[in-house]
Amino acid sequence: MEILTTPQELREQCLDWRVAGLTVALVPTMGCYHLGHQSLMRHAGELARRLVVSLFVNPAQFGPGEDLDIYPKNVERDTAIAEACGADVLFTPSPDVMYAPDHATWVDVPEMAKKLCGQSRPAHFRGVCTVVLKLFLLSQADVAVFGNKDWQQQAIIRRMARDLNMPIRIETRPIAREADGLALSSRNIFLAPEERAQALEIQRGLQHAQELVNHGEKDAVLLQKAVLRCWTERLPLGRLDYLVAVHPETLEPVICVEAPTLMACAVYLGKVRLIDNILLYP
Ligand code: AMP
Repeated sequence: MEILTTPQELREQCLDWRVAGLTVALVPTMGCYHLGHQSLMRHAGELARRLVVSLFVNPAQFGPGEDLDIYPKNVERDTAIAEACGADVLFTPSPDVMYAPDHATWVDVPEMAKKLCGQSRPAHFRGVCTVVLKLFLLSQADVAVFGNKDWQQQAIIRRMARDLNMPIRIETRPIAREADGLALSSRNIFLAPEERAQALEIQRGLQHAQELVNHGEKDAVLLQKAVLRCWTERLPLGRLDYLVAVHPETLEPVICVEAPTLMACAVYLGKVRLIDNILLYP
């Protein structure tokens, strides 16, 4: 595996591959790898002849007061994991080679970006789209793989790729979880023991909604209320950011669960903001 650090090196390497007729898969990440990232990498490796994993804690997607400065880093361990998962290139640029001091161009999907996580993180998806488009352009990848944990992110990237006729396929992987159901996240290490103990209730609450749907409940508001009741009882340390039932592609609110519906949430435990979601099937 090669480690590349500049946009030009990545562009040249991927161009060489393309000229040699080799397809390229891309997995964008911010590092601190867990099994969720590894599942993306292994899957991506099966989709193309060459695999690029990017490891870049993108400052543009963090708002003021968010956890950019303390975002967990372990480049040595990540390098070994990316290699073991079959990456041909690990792209680890610094912020200054990705963003010129007078960087002024942004890609945004504003209607989708202001919903869900966008309500408390207004510039987040603009930062995500901009860096992901840069990575798409540099790698000229045939396929990029994202995780369903960040459902809104993959939905927005799909829309961006479609709207701008990007010649890339977007694939997704299911949410990788701890044995007790907590979605794996680089931020889980920041949870205090009692917060960690309650964090599994996030997923349990969402699963409760599916159980109610199985019993015939279709009213999205009632389903949301039932989940919130679970959390009030069992997740007293949690502070709700949002809980919504929305169309999985458009992210528009759903009134009645008559087709697969995304129930997505963000919950603060202490200072840690955790996201999770479930696709509810009627
Ligand atoms: P991050 O490093 O957190 O920016 O995530 C990089 C990619 O890994 C994104 O596409 C995420 O959706 C995906 N990812 C993060 N956590 C998980 C998880 N628990 N299961 C599946 N994919 C994940």
